[in-house]
Amino acid sequence: MSAQLIYVLNIVILHGKEAYGMTRKCKKCGEVYDVGILKYIKSLWRGKMIFRCETCEELVNWKRDEDINQINENSFSFNKCNVKCYDNRLYDWIYKKIIDQNEYCELRLRGNIIYHCFPADLKEDYLVCRKDEYDPNIKYGTHRIGDIEKRIPLNYIVGIEIIDVYKDYFEPDVKEPVFGFKGIEVVDGILKAKDYIYELGIPYEEPQRIRPHKDYQDVYSHFCIRIEDVLSHRDFITSPIAFSEGKGRSNQRLFEVKAEGHCFENTTNGWVSNKLTVIREVTKEEIIEYFNQSQKLKLIVEKFLESRNSKYEEIWSKYAKADIRPYRQFLSDNEIDEMIVKICVFNKSDVCIQDYSKLKFEICEQCSYYKHAMEYKKKRHCYLTIRNTIRKGAFNKENKNYEYLLEHNFRSELEAVNRLLEYT
Ligand SMILES: [Zn+2]
Repeated sequence: MSAQLIYVLNIVILHGKEAYGMTRKCKKCGEVYDVGILKYIKSLWRGKMIFRCETCEELVNWKRDEDINQINENSFSFNKCNVKCYDNRLYDWIYKKIIDQNEYCELRLRGNIIYHCFPADLKEDYLVCRKDEYDPNIKYGTHRIGDIEKRIPLNYIVGIEIIDVYKDYFEPDVKEPVFGFKGIEVVDGILKAKDYIYELGIPYEEPQRIRPHKDYQDVYSHFCIRIEDVLSHRDFITSPIAFSEGKGRSNQRLFEVKAEGHCFENTTNGWVSNKLTVIREVTKEEIIEYFNQSQKLKLIVEKFLESRNSKYEEIWSKYAKADIRPYRQFLSDNEIDEMIVKICVFNKSDVCIQDYSKLKFEICEQCSYYKHAMEYKKKRHCYLTIRNTIRKGAFNKENKNYEYLLEHNFRSELEAVNRLLEYT
């Protein structure tokens, strides 16, 4: 092309733009684009002043050219779809499976292009995509939803796959153990929190849960860094008082804990860990000393007790005087039997068939009130007895108590036995 011709064309185009205003807003997508002189004239000629950008034009054609034969080859499953041609099922699938769930996706585009993003909206047949703000240095390198990055015309998409990238990604363990405190209920001599059974000195480990996909309320061991933060979750002051007086069923105690593994602050002042070791009980004397340290701490307890309708001064003197014995991790077989038999509401009543000089759980099993009053204690009796057997090195899988746990599928107890076997 000669320089002169280029010069002439430039003049025409520039003047044309000025004269006709050939940039137009696309009627469909709203983008401002250059119409092009030929198209502009064509539109004028037809008397239809509807301007669509080239991409939108393609989209309109794509939707019009629905192919009955090809449509059978399209597929939509729970985590992926393949689209060879326009298919109205695609819209519903994208909304329900991806947009509503904030899923992270791999898009296969025409021309073998792969694009990863978080699709956030569907507008005028464009998939609005937010970018994946993956950064190994930010928040342990989890994939996070970023700003809008691209708008992809639906006809460019050949396939979508929802990928659970979090599944393949594991957050590193905390470099140093985190030390804190945890309120734990002592139930029949066993340290329990929900379905978790703890043993002093044995880590309670769980597989790592995928952070953005999990509510940590029901998994992982919870703990706090400061003693006062535990109080609102576990009342380790008034509950042991009531328990020591034979009132109240809950015996909450405070323990020092070591957290390792996947460990982070989950709520304000609330921490979680998938590897928590209960180290030791914080004694009554230590608790009193701790809260007496400062006016601020005293105030926290005062407020808490008020919320429970207890008076501050009274409680402290009651607490100091109460016969709150430290938690004893190990009991002999006889002590276990005695402790559990004594819990029975019929103990020492006329119907009780025990020999009081030597209380035995197996006697309870012969009692006609057993099913009603004591059977639910059997799994704890089994667990504590197995624990002693393991400590003596005399455990094998034919153990009767173990068979009972297996038979009834008491998962918490069975898992706790496995931990004992692993760490004893
Ligand atoms: Zn457009």
